[in-house]
Amino acid sequence: MKYLLILFYSIFIGCYNIYGLALQEEKSNQIPSKEHTNYKLSDWPEEIPESIIFIIADGTGIGQYTLSYYANGDFAPARFDHIGLVATHPNDGECASTCKRVTDSAASGTALSAGLKTYNGAIGVDKEKMPVKTMLEWAEEKDMLTGLVATSSVTHATPASFAAHVDYRKKEAEIAQQYAHSDVDLILGGGKKFWPDSLIKIFEQNNGQFIENLESKINFKKKILGLFSQDGMPKVHEGRNPSTTKMAQFALNYLQNASNGFFIMIEESQVDWGGHSNSAEYIKGEMQSLNELIHFILDYQEENPKTLVVLTADHECGGVAVHDGADGDLDIRFTSDYHSANFVPIFATGPGAEVFDAFMDNTEIGRMLIEYIKN
Ligand SMILES: [Zn+2]
Repeated sequence: MKYLLILFYSIFIGCYNIYGLALQEEKSNQIPSKEHTNYKLSDWPEEIPESIIFIIADGTGIGQYTLSYYANGDFAPARFDHIGLVATHPNDGECASTCKRVTDSAASGTALSAGLKTYNGAIGVDKEKMPVKTMLEWAEEKDMLTGLVATSSVTHATPASFAAHVDYRKKEAEIAQQYAHSDVDLILGGGKKFWPDSLIKIFEQNNGQFIENLESKINFKKKILGLFSQDGMPKVHEGRNPSTTKMAQFALNYLQNASNGFFIMIEESQVDWGGHSNSAEYIKGEMQSLNELIHFILDYQEENPKTLVVLTADHECGGVAVHDGADGDLDIRFTSDYHSANFVPIFATGPGAEVFDAFMDNTEIGRMLIEYIKN
């Protein structure tokens, strides 16, 4: 009898692990997806803003914020008054067969800039590759001053989605050409290699001033183009200079002379690249930079309460999760070296911020900010 019990027991333990899952059971992590709803924002705020500061932390989801919270200490996003969650899928493929849930920065950049779903790779164009009007272009039409700041090349997908219209994101030289002829008042970041001298000349002839460091004396009556590296700017932990916050400071100093308000998009571009390279160190540095930027921008907002500040991400990158490592360290793990479809947070403070206390589709952010600018 005793031997029989031991036999049964070892058969039981042999087949099941401690969670009761049969070990031989075939597990599949491929599960069918269902039709989803694009949730809308229905509220209209009591007050709308005079100026908008839109911060996009590229590739920054809950895992990246959690990493920063435990690795960097001080957590600036806690200063925001309103928090929501955002679904980021593109409109790419037929949902019955090849539908994509994971977006790239071009499709989601266009969702955020123009309030419209499009295909992966699309910069400021719809599914038929027709240009769509962005919030920055609406701001220009309303005589607001406009700015773009990025730590990638300024012609990279996210900033490009606000001020250019091309069918494919890799056409950065063409995007630079469109910028040179555009009415964007201020552009700061990397990517000098996409601006041959002949193009800089065209920009200057179009009432532009080109600078390569923030100490340059500037003419406030001219449009400003500042390029500080050949490609993307150096990583934070390798000594980025100027810092994202320094560029933001310079930009606000220029834009706050606006008589009719301003719109600026500031991108902390490289949290995403840290996710692509599965580097916790890289993400930690970029999140530190984002944290400093948030403090600076929210201090500015306190002094200028008619300004709305919105912070969100275009998508998550890396499937980042935070675990306990040895000796009290963090063990950061990645599920991928590409983007995930995980929801991303949105934070907001200022007039019109309260509508973002919700679960929403990413196009709703674009749509709502455009409504604020139009009104
Ligand atoms: Zn990416």
